[in-house]
Amino acid sequence: MKTVVMKFGGTSVATPEKIIGVAKRAIREKEKGHRVVIVVSAMGKTTDTLLALAGEISAEPSKREMDMLLATGEQVTISLLAMAFKSLGHEALSFTGWQAGIETESVPRNARIETIHTERLERVLDNGFICVVAGFQGVDRIGNITTLGRGGSDTTAVALAAALGADKCEIYTDVDGVYTSDPRSVTGARKLEQISYDEMLELANLGAGVLHPRAVEFAKNNKVPLSVRASYSDVPGTIIQEVITVEKNLIVRGVAFEPGIARVTVSYKKPFNGSLANIFTKLAEHHIDVDIIVQSITDEFPPSVSFSIKEESLEETKRVLNEFQENIRFSAANYEVGLSKVSIVGSGMVSNPGVAAQMFDILRVQGIPVKMVSTSEIKISVVVPETDMQAAANALHDAFGLSE
Ligand code: ADP
Ligand code: ASP
Ligand code: MG
Repeated sequence: MKTVVMKFGGTSVATPEKIIGVAKRAIREKEKGHRVVIVVSAMGKTTDTLLALAGEISAEPSKREMDMLLATGEQVTISLLAMAFKSLGHEALSFTGWQAGIETESVPRNARIETIHTERLERVLDNGFICVVAGFQGVDRIGNITTLGRGGSDTTAVALAAALGADKCEIYTDVDGVYTSDPRSVTGARKLEQISYDEMLELANLGAGVLHPRAVEFAKNNKVPLSVRASYSDVPGTIIQEVITVEKNLIVRGVAFEPGIARVTVSYKKPFNGSLANIFTKLAEHHIDVDIIVQSITDEFPPSVSFSIKEESLEETKRVLNEFQENIRFSAANYEVGLSKVSIVGSGMVSNPGVAAQMFDILRVQGIPVKMVSTSEIKISVVVPETDMQAAANALHDAFGLSE
């Protein structure tokens, strides 16, 4: 008997009619004789509404209580969907994250899944029930409800698929696949028939919101057969797998972008070996994700290090730097907000050394200033003003031959 995991995002379960549609679609799979697990997000913009609600109570609400609040969104959807199955004559049971055995680390708002105790789901599936699981949530070892970070329902689905040894994991959403760039912002974005785990992981990490990065990580590490497809039609989606046949022989396979980036620059009067380690250890202890790091030490200027973070972490970063100024031993720090990161991704880049130069030239022609750069074997990212983000993404998408 095959096991399938199907995940439906917020837009796909936004109304009672859509929830009934999801149930009908899942019943088609059940009637093929499969064991079916459905993972769902909160309805429509529920998570945003809950965030705003907390904001009206407190400017800095407790992260634990935020998890408690946000997890309610998904709980609404699972119960309604299980009711929909019953009204359509099928046995189904809903499960919150903890009921489904999803154990996470104790990091509120951004927890990683550590283990999944699948016994209960296995039993229920073997008894012929459809399992409806709340995405985006789990429980830590001491019983606190945790959430997995925005977009984390994808990760619930893929992690469950891995734990149950599922034959396929399908992510149903409001686009019909993974495109060369976000089709809402980049004209000429093309749907990809296939993409490799590595390229998808880079795109997801670099801001392509169509999949949660940790979902791709789980899929890659456990070789989960993963696809992204439309919840509103039956057209085939995009398959994410290890080895792919490339449709066009392009060096760049996709363009991703992310707004809301801030740059922090810290300078010291005189260098000492501990500077870098001290700064980044302190930030890591406070769960502040640092992205691009540029250190510059020359004889003429005081040493400095610049790094990029998400704008939403800026206040906490400032607080940590100030609190540990003595220990970190810096003399001045400055900040720039209103930035974004635009990246090109493609495994063909490894063997093509001129790609970065080409990228800078395309941006120069557009008059877009490059503030920071970071490269890896299969991607190049630049930090540019947020007001130029869309223009940069479109120009790179066209110039690297990705447009239709
Ligand atoms: P869901 O609620 O179903 O999880 P998301 O909003 O999280 O849906 O993800 C789907 C959205 O991802 C699309 O509407 C699209 O705007 C965006 N997106 C960003 N990059 C890409 C890409 N490369 N390909 C497809 N969609 C993308
Ligand atoms: N409801 C959560 C969010 O909006 C999780 C998800 O949709 O994947 O981020
Ligand atoms: Mg999503």
